[in-house]
Amino acid sequence: MSRIVVVSNRVAPVDEGKASSGGLAVAVLAALKRAGGIWFGWSGEIAENSSGSPGIRQVGRLTYATIDLTQRDYEEYYNGFANSTLWPLFHYRLDLTEFSRRTYAGYLRVNSLFASKLAPMLRDTDMIWVHDYHLIPFGEQLRQMGFDQRMGFFLHTPWPVPEMLLALPNHDSLVRSLCAYDVVGFQTEGDRKAFVDYLIREVGGEIVDGNRIRAFGRTLRVEAFPISVETREIESQAAQSAGSRQIERLRVSLAGRELIVGVDRLDYSKGLPQRFQAFEELFEHYPANRGQVTFMQIAPPTRTEVAEYAQIRRELETMAGHINGKFAEFDWMPIRYLNKSFPRRRLLGFYRCARIGLVTPLRDGMNLVAKEYVAAQDPDDPGVLVLSRFAGAAPELAVGAIIVNPYDVEGVAESLQRALNMPREERRERHAAMMKVLRENDISHWRERFVQALEAAPYG
Ligand code: UDP
Repeated sequence: MSRIVVVSNRVAPVDEGKASSGGLAVAVLAALKRAGGIWFGWSGEIAENSSGSPGIRQVGRLTYATIDLTQRDYEEYYNGFANSTLWPLFHYRLDLTEFSRRTYAGYLRVNSLFASKLAPMLRDTDMIWVHDYHLIPFGEQLRQMGFDQRMGFFLHTPWPVPEMLLALPNHDSLVRSLCAYDVVGFQTEGDRKAFVDYLIREVGGEIVDGNRIRAFGRTLRVEAFPISVETREIESQAAQSAGSRQIERLRVSLAGRELIVGVDRLDYSKGLPQRFQAFEELFEHYPANRGQVTFMQIAPPTRTEVAEYAQIRRELETMAGHINGKFAEFDWMPIRYLNKSFPRRRLLGFYRCARIGLVTPLRDGMNLVAKEYVAAQDPDDPGVLVLSRFAGAAPELAVGAIIVNPYDVEGVAESLQRALNMPREERRERHAAMMKVLRENDISHWRERFVQALEAAPYG
């Protein structure tokens, strides 16, 4: 069995019990535990220089190898090109997309640094699995150093349609570097199609057959691999967590009121201002809900050094204050707005208490919270998932979720009203339909599909 070498911007906390605010960590750890191998990435530390050897930590069959970045690397690669150019662009926010040749050069430099640090650790038979938008050029950099191992790339974010991508001055070199991989995986069919459309229209790519495509002189497999969750573990953890003291405290504090829950990193892609507006609209248009429904929004801050994130935080604080001031009673507060993270196990208990899981991103690669919410429900008396059509999870979960357009604030309020009044039988049917999907495509299935595609490489 070949070793798997996973490369991602951050390596998950070695202490697995820790709260994590990213879907990537949960997914990759599950993948590596099985096959053994290396997980390589940035340590999260800033150092005077980044010329040292990687820090190594061995945990069972897994080697964690991490490198430090300099302040300049961090600003240009991480805050700069990755999070101020690619992230907004890939989430259809051209208005927030900044471009500078300096940060792009920093992005390439750090990708090249990653490649040169990993290179001495590689064996000929390794399969290399690179994750996410921070590391698109990584594979091409390794190829240029003469490595011809099987290499796959999985993008956790959306991939934008060609019209959007063309706004990036270096769109062609970014796409060319993706074609250095043997397998390029996207979250949804829509993302895959957007990438293939670009290849065909802009660089004369040709479909060889099925998922194989030829471009830039190479043949690669391009496929949708919708990421998922550990469905069974979540089911049992949620049932356990629901009986815990803390969840009992939550129940007591609700005093019989219905709970709507939202869990999102504090990010402009998550549609939080529109969601708060929809909640306000629910009380305006359906006043019988006043005093009867509580909305708990958990929103741990991230990327605090990027200006737009400070901006959205201020906006939400103002909105939460406004809505609470307008509707609160001496014994009831409509919004509980929490700027902190919780261990996932605790979240599962919260989900199980909530009549509605409200997931309304304006754009999202997948949105694991949507899947976790469904898997955490009591099948006998489940809650309702209200889900944005722009979440990567929507194509799979449309069988049971109420699908909404997050820009349509009145429509979301109407869907909330419908969900609050949905009969138990309908809730059970919808939940069962979604669980069928989540049992078939759980995290192991996702991992196996990707690894099998990589094992079958090369494709040309
Ligand atoms: N999460 C967590 N604690 C928190 C908030 C989020 O453990 O306080 C986890 C959540 O359970 C999910 C992941 O972080 O597994 C978020 O993944 P998602 O795909 O929803 O969004 P992303 O943050 O990757 O954009």
